Amino acid sequence: MKGSIRLFRIFGISINIHVTFLLLLVLFLSGGIKWLVLMIGVFFFVTLHELCHSLVARRFGIQVREITLLPIGGVASMTSMPEKPIHEFFISIAGPLFNIAVVVVLYYPLKTLLGPEALFHRPFSTATWPLTIAYLYWINLILALFNLIPAFPMDGGRVLRALLAQRMSYQKATKIAVNLGHLFALGFAYFGIVGFNVILVIIAIFIYVAASNEELQVDLKETLKKFRVRDILSADFFTLNSDTTLAKVLELIFHSHQEDFPVLEGGEMVGFVTRREIISGIHSLGMQTLVKDVMSKDFPKVTDADLLIKAQK
Ligand code: ZN
Repeated sequence: MKGSIRLFRIFGISINIHVTFLLLLVLFLSGGIKWLVLMIGVFFFVTLHELCHSLVARRFGIQVREITLLPIGGVASMTSMPEKPIHEFFISIAGPLFNIAVVVVLYYPLKTLLGPEALFHRPFSTATWPLTIAYLYWINLILALFNLIPAFPMDGGRVLRALLAQRMSYQKATKIAVNLGHLFALGFAYFGIVGFNVILVIIAIFIYVAASNEELQVDLKETLKKFRVRDILSADFFTLNSDTTLAKVLELIFHSHQEDFPVLEGGEMVGFVTRREIISGIHSLGMQTLVKDVMSKDFPKVTDADLLIKAQK
């Protein structure tokens, strides 16, 4: 992701921090050493949350290149989308489940160690060290609950879509989760404006835009799925024979606006030549040069029956 710094690599995934996250760190540094520890703790739990998504994704054959930490949370960049809704379900639920596990597992140890007073009385304070640790503990509950909101772009939105997609089309399921995302964004914006809370308004804008983005991507994918390569290739597409001379080619392509020409040999595509390569071929090798001497054999292979979604890659 642009504007991010790589911190380290774990399980082959690079953990990056976005510069805006560093600004947040500087902002909280003024709060003293306890704030710093709190921020590093948040960083730690958010990273583990994203790693849980990533490791489950990998089990389903999806590679994760990097995890970037933003002030609003982490983002795991996956190389592809989950194929099956059930995969998306497990990948999405893994993150919040981790935070719930932390809350459950650390409950008794922390209650014994810090005492119930520090753990329950003032959960969001950094006045003392026990309170700071309790703060960090409760952040896990907040991370779990926030991410389980059943709306895009939260994990809960993906969980909801995965469940809905069992009963309806993927596109319709997306639409419902996106609309819920917009609804939550408007709710956050309302409370942000009424309570003069700028951060809440920023979160609202982020949720709204990210939800819309998800719908756009799914729509594009669905649209591409409907068309095949031959649907967008014009019928009067010039193809060249590998044994044709460039003099003949020049004559053929003179009145065409086509830029790239597939080269055929016995009906089979063997290469690819561009208008520019033809012109420079004539200049350097002469008019009697054959197409096969200037064509490039390294070309992306898609057949006209291939789905556009494949050709796009
Ligand atoms: Zn998550």
